[in-house]
Amino acid sequence: MSKLYFRYGAMGCGKTMQLLQVAFNYEERGHQVLVMKPKTDTKNGEKLLTRIGPERKVDFCFSKTDNVFDFVSKHLKKGGKKISCVLIDEAQFLTADQVDELMQVVTEFGIPVMAYGLRLNFRLTDGGFEGATRLLQIAHDIDEIKTICECGRKATCNARFLNGKFVADGPDILIDDGKTEIEYRAICPKCFADYKAGKK
Ligand SMILES: [Zn+2]
Repeated sequence: MSKLYFRYGAMGCGKTMQLLQVAFNYEERGHQVLVMKPKTDTKNGEKLLTRIGPERKVDFCFSKTDNVFDFVSKHLKKGGKKISCVLIDEAQFLTADQVDELMQVVTEFGIPVMAYGLRLNFRLTDGGFEGATRLLQIAHDIDEIKTICECGRKATCNARFLNGKFVADGPDILIDDGKTEIEYRAICPKCFADYKAGKK
C-alpha cells in the first residue's frame, strides 16, 4: 500500500539531502519522481540546495492557493513514464488543505508521497506550522531525522539567532534585510531553555 510519509527533523539535519537521495534511488532504477516545494521558501529559487553539495531543480513551486492534487493529476507522467513517487521539501509550509490533497494523491493514484520538513517553529510555544501539524495528524508513517546539539545532546529545537543573539519571538518567516545576519541552529531543549533564560 502506498503511504503518506512525514520525515521531520531540526534545521540542518539533512532532510533535503535525504530527499535527493530518495529521488536518485528511484531515477537510478528507471523510475520518475515529482519534486515540489512551497514558494514560501524563496531563498534558493526553484532549486533544492544542500550544505554538503548535491542540488536539483524542483518540478513545481507551489503557493498556498495551489491545489497540489490537481498539479499531480496533470503530471502523472514524466518522460513517458508514470511517476513513482512525489517528494516535498519544506513541507511545514504546506497548508492543512494541501496535506489533505497529498493524502488524496496517495489514496486515489496509489503513489507514495514523502514530505520532509520541520516539526515546529523556533518559538516552540504556539501552534507552529500548519503543514507540519496536519502531517503529524494524518501521515501513515512518521519518522525523525536526527541531529546533534552543540552540547552533544539530541537537537530537537530550531533556534533563531539575529546577529548572533538568540531570539524567541518574531514571525515564522524573516525577510533578509541585508543588515541583519539571520541564523538558525538546531539545539536541544536544555540549551534552548538556557539561551532563553540568558544563561548562555
Ligand atoms: Zn544542547
